Amino acid sequence: MKIYFYGSTETVTGSNILLEDNNSKILIDCGLVQKERTCDIENFYPFPYDVQSIKAVLLTHAHLDHSGRLPKLIKEGFKGYVYSTPPTKDLAKEILLDSQKIINQNCQELNKQRIYSEEEIDKLLERWQTINYHQPLTIDNFNIEFFNSGHILGSAFIKINNLVISGDLGNKDKSLTQELEPLPNVNYLVLESTYGNRLHKNLDTRINDLEKIIEKVIYEKRILLIPTFALERAQEIIFDIQKLIETKKIPDIKIYLDSPLAKKISRIYEKYPEYLNHNASVEILTEGLFNNDYLKIIENDQDELEMIKKQPPKIILAGSGMIMGGKIVKILDQYLNNEKLSILFIGYQAPESLGRKILDGEMKIKGEILTLFSYSAHRDQAGILEWVKPQRFNLKEIFLVHGNNDEKKALQTLIMDSLALKTTIPHNKENVFEIL
Ligand SMILES: [Zn+2]
Repeated sequence: MKIYFYGSTETVTGSNILLEDNNSKILIDCGLVQKERTCDIENFYPFPYDVQSIKAVLLTHAHLDHSGRLPKLIKEGFKGYVYSTPPTKDLAKEILLDSQKIINQNCQELNKQRIYSEEEIDKLLERWQTINYHQPLTIDNFNIEFFNSGHILGSAFIKINNLVISGDLGNKDKSLTQELEPLPNVNYLVLESTYGNRLHKNLDTRINDLEKIIEKVIYEKRILLIPTFALERAQEIIFDIQKLIETKKIPDIKIYLDSPLAKKISRIYEKYPEYLNHNASVEILTEGLFNNDYLKIIENDQDELEMIKKQPPKIILAGSGMIMGGKIVKILDQYLNNEKLSILFIGYQAPESLGRKILDGEMKIKGEILTLFSYSAHRDQAGILEWVKPQRFNLKEIFLVHGNNDEKKALQTLIMDSLALKTTIPHNKENVFEIL
């Protein structure tokens, strides 16, 4: 079997791996390359393989950097099937449809034809089969099994014969998703390294930190504005705030969710209690995950107006997570000169984003800036190592992808030093490896 790395070698995005044996070829992930733009110029290049010769695509999870080029694959003549867990299919559909606007805008800026349209997304969904964790799947000589990777709802790492492809690996102690499953006994591993050189701080005190922030907001009658990633982060933080209110750790406070995409995604979370951890699934089965008096989901302009008028204290969650478009831009405009504003960043802010400019003080706001980065959806260095270690005597080689150079180098050194395992960093120019 040969493995080809066609994406996420030089960057963290654009996941695209090809496996080939004498009989057939399959792909794992077909993600969008994202740099300063949601849709980078590289996405317009032709695929470096004959698309019609691909038998199937296995999708690890719904994030755009893993799924975003699937409709392009259809457009270029892919005739096989896509396989993922049922939640991944539902989530990817919403993510792909929602990203159309920004991707089309990027196409215009780059002077390019639309990379694909809704028609290809529809065709893609017709060629998409769902498979549960541990449900056996065989495609020619490839024996395939999906495992829970604990990253977002429905996310998987995938075992194919003697190889595991990690996809993205979930952080520990998350509020909604289950812990990731142990690494099975295999000889080869393709491993993500997004946080390969970092340790997440305060994982266990995350909820207490959130409690302190909200207590201050209530006491000082402030407006807490949280730029929110629509998938997982929004649901997780709402769930945690609700828990704080229900256990009377904080007084009642109104929470507004102003993100059409996050709203749709929240409903998908409620559809799949069996994919969530015990606490979250009990909550869904008893009263629904996001149905209560404190949470107001914004449906229209009137709701939005009432949200703005409502006297503080209040909490507003709005997309996008890096303040690059979305509802938050308008909301931020309202409160820019209000010293009662507290902006809470809970996720990565890309170099060119407005979020980054505010965080770095390049763009001034009157209120205060807070951070709580322990809400990351990715496992850190120690977490990755802990997951790999039990298989150190079975593994022959690890390939590092999905990280910037520093992250990959740091993780490579650590794995070689502490686990004595051959660890390879594939590059664009050296991207084919034989797996026995
Ligand atoms: Zn991801």
